[in-house]
Amino acid sequence: MSKNYGPEYVRAIAPYQAGKPISEVAREFGLKEESIVKLASNENPFGVPESAQKAMAAAAAELGRYPDANAFDLKMALSKRYDVPMDWITLGNGSNDILEIAAHAFVERGQSVVYSQYSFAVYALATQGIGARHIVVPAKNHGHDLDAMAAAIEADTKLVFIANPNNPTGTFVTGAEIEAFLQKVPANVVVVLDEAYNEFLKKEDQYESAAWVKKYPNLLVSRTFSKAYGLAGLRVGFALAQPEVTDLMNRIRQPFNVNSLAQAAAIAALNDKEFLDKSAANNTAGYEQFVEAFKDMGLEYVPSYGNFVLVRVGNDDAAGARINLALLKQGVIVRPVGNYGLPQWLRISIGLPQENAVLITALRKALAEDRA
Ligand SMILES: *Cc1c(COP(=O)(O)O)cnc(C)c1O
Repeated sequence: MSKNYGPEYVRAIAPYQAGKPISEVAREFGLKEESIVKLASNENPFGVPESAQKAMAAAAAELGRYPDANAFDLKMALSKRYDVPMDWITLGNGSNDILEIAAHAFVERGQSVVYSQYSFAVYALATQGIGARHIVVPAKNHGHDLDAMAAAIEADTKLVFIANPNNPTGTFVTGAEIEAFLQKVPANVVVVLDEAYNEFLKKEDQYESAAWVKKYPNLLVSRTFSKAYGLAGLRVGFALAQPEVTDLMNRIRQPFNVNSLAQAAAIAALNDKEFLDKSAANNTAGYEQFVEAFKDMGLEYVPSYGNFVLVRVGNDDAAGARINLALLKQGVIVRPVGNYGLPQWLRISIGLPQENAVLITALRKALAEDRA
């Protein structure tokens, strides 16, 4: 008999489904790890920047000591980059940590959190994990409907999550739309603007969210080193917000949530403009490579502002799972998104040109066999 340990809302959590690791697919399908292409977790296909590898090697000798709990050097670097004081910065064990800390810091059990349908899975998890109430606003064209989200805020709403660009759909709302939203949100509601893919935006789409935190005391801008900066395995992200919000985040945060190697690597990556430019250029080219192939295959896709594309691989609700399996058998790992309510679609991360080509060939084969 079940003992019913823990609160009901914890037992109701549907665990996060991560992209399959290469080693697991190799074992399951009897493949060589070197032959596997992973385009499943929106990682940087160039891997860890060399600058960050050197910084970590230098920091390794000090691992007998605890990390700097206040991460002085990294906060100083971020403070300079984003022109905010150091006490406006919260560091996270990945930006996932930032999202969790925000839920714990600003919302009581039973109060509500607003986020969009088809937005990042962690918003639902963070909300559920504290026993809060979910207000899920229907998406518009697979993306955030900010007018509807503003209208959905209730008297007990304490937090709003917005991903821009959004994952898993790749959609984007303009800076003007977000600012109009911020002006409508009640002052006692914290808005988490999750910009995990910000560094991939084209010049003409960029907007001044880091400067907005000076204007909006309830705004928290979240960024990560996991995507464009190539440090997903190290787990480091950060948030910018005014001191009142940051101070509460800091009370919830684990004292040593960002380790010494991650702090050193993040400083190096932050200053490695060459790596970032190379990553953005590869992403633009890879996106065009995918879009051209999807058009050629007659596949519907959602125009993406991130380093991945959501593509529809069939018209029945088993299509995503079926094509995913057919791709795995060919050694290509992508991300099924049935858990997001998108069972006809797959999310495919943009890789190196050669990796993209392998995916395209495998997808053509999988679709042809599926239709036969
Ligand atoms: C990947 C991702 C994150 C979290 O990444 P971390 O590795 O935890 O920094 C946060 N938000 C969105 C929308 C993401 O796609």
